[in-house]
Amino acid sequence: MPTFFETRAGGQLLAAIAGALVLWGMLYAFRLNVMAIFRNYSSDRVDGLFLAFVVAGFASFLYSLLRIFDLRREMQRQQEQGRRALWTATHDHLTRLPNRYAFERFEALPTSGSDDAAHAPMATVFSIDLDGFKKVNDLLGHQGGDFLLQEVAKRLSAFGAENCVFRFGGDEFIVIARDLLPTRDARFAELIVHSLTRPVKIDALWCQVGASIGYARWPEHGAQIKDVCHKSDIALYEAKALGANTSLLFREEMQMKVSERAKLEGVLRTAIDKNQIRPFYQPLVDLRSGDVCGFEALARWTLEDGTSISPQVFISIAEETGLITPLFQQLLSRACGDAKSWPPHVCLSFNLSAVQMEDRLLAARILEIVEEAGFAPERLEIEITENALIKDPTLAAAIIDDLHAAGILVALDDFGTGYSSLSQLARYAFDKIKIDQSFVRSLGQGGGRHGKIVQALLNLSRGLEVKTTVEGIEEHHQLAYFLNEGCDIGQGYLFGKAMPFEQTVSFLDERRAVLKTA
Ligand code: C2E
Ligand code: MG
Ligand code: MG
Repeated sequence: MPTFFETRAGGQLLAAIAGALVLWGMLYAFRLNVMAIFRNYSSDRVDGLFLAFVVAGFASFLYSLLRIFDLRREMQRQQEQGRRALWTATHDHLTRLPNRYAFERFEALPTSGSDDAAHAPMATVFSIDLDGFKKVNDLLGHQGGDFLLQEVAKRLSAFGAENCVFRFGGDEFIVIARDLLPTRDARFAELIVHSLTRPVKIDALWCQVGASIGYARWPEHGAQIKDVCHKSDIALYEAKALGANTSLLFREEMQMKVSERAKLEGVLRTAIDKNQIRPFYQPLVDLRSGDVCGFEALARWTLEDGTSISPQVFISIAEETGLITPLFQQLLSRACGDAKSWPPHVCLSFNLSAVQMEDRLLAARILEIVEEAGFAPERLEIEITENALIKDPTLAAAIIDDLHAAGILVALDDFGTGYSSLSQLARYAFDKIKIDQSFVRSLGQGGGRHGKIVQALLNLSRGLEVKTTVEGIEEHHQLAYFLNEGCDIGQGYLFGKAMPFEQTVSFLDERRAVLKTA
């Protein structure tokens, strides 16, 4: 509560008193001179003029004082507004935690460089990302998601001192733990995971999310806190790739991997521009007749120095950078052009990336490429992995229906390795299921428990009336096993590896010649 003299009225009263005092003093001090002037130049005009000067001077003086008080008040108001604007700029409104901008201004760490290693200041930066947050948002709407983020902020606040827990946007948080011994940070990360994975009640529903954590130490991993945070982010990226609820300490190799990946991204762009990535073709063999019934197009990229880059590496970069769409179009167009020259019963299988399943017009785009190449859509089979279905099952079902309407076949690739549930599978009209090669590898000589799983998968596809392809057949005993189990199509090194188009023609001829003599 301001005192009376701090209010505008009090200020003006003070100003008036001060003004009167000053005027009185002046008049008193110059009284005699004033009287003399009055006596010598006594005239109405001069008296009036003089008085007007005195009053105007007094009024100006009083006005200046009032302005000074008003300016002071205005300055205080602006300071308060500035403080509020700074808070708004440096805080997240939902969780009221400091944000990324506040992090960049973070100065709470003492300067390192103490000679006494045992007592040198230290801190660990934890980069935290929630796993499965999008699902909560999708299920409970943004209000539910907001509530969860507020709860996460509350739980995280218990792990850091004031202004040491930040929200960087979305479901990304940072905790700076000061003076945490290097021997304790792994345990600290575990405790954060444990705290964040405890269920949260939202609108009478219990929800649970996971948390991935990457962490790095100051000053060991960087002199500036933002450099350390960059490293903890790199470790987080690795932790996320390992699956939910993983925490990882930054290691130098991780940085090298990131730099190599960034370099590769640039080279990949050029390779796509120059059409340097080519489809190779791996035969698909009808197990009953032994004839080649199709080829799966597999992308191959060889650098100018002769190094081959694995499709798993460059496809994932292309997916992350959005390059997958031009790459897909380029490869599919080329593969359709190649496949035209195969006998009509030989189909072309083509892999689709999970990220492409976000495109509602995907089927139309595929059909356009196929028609442009002059290839029959009925001879094309699109392979979709289970993980491509879970993101948006309704959209996935619509795309699959569109593909069928265009006459294109759809196969479920790498079956048994993804996260789709069996009930979900019944929802999609697949023409073929490809049993993942990991089941074939784990089969061993006798079948055993893995054999039972393979039999169950084969029964499932028979029940759904879809054909089965088994991937990764390398040995004769594996071929014999799947032939015996009534599997339809085989793929693997036993029949042939992926080959350039030029070899497919001679491969088909040789295969036909072998069948004739058999
Ligand atoms: P995928 O679609 O499951 O392809 C089968 C992978 O298994 C191929 O690996 C193939 O070379 C390998 N393979 C086939 N038979 C055998 C075998 O008997 N033994 C062993 N050990 N491996 C065998 P590749 O070419 O390295 O491709 C890996 C994955 O990369 C593919 O798995 C597919 O998911 C992806 N991919 C390849 N080309 C493309 C493409 O053009 N577009 C998209 N979206 N993904 C692609
Ligand atoms: Mg495939
Ligand atoms: Mg596969």
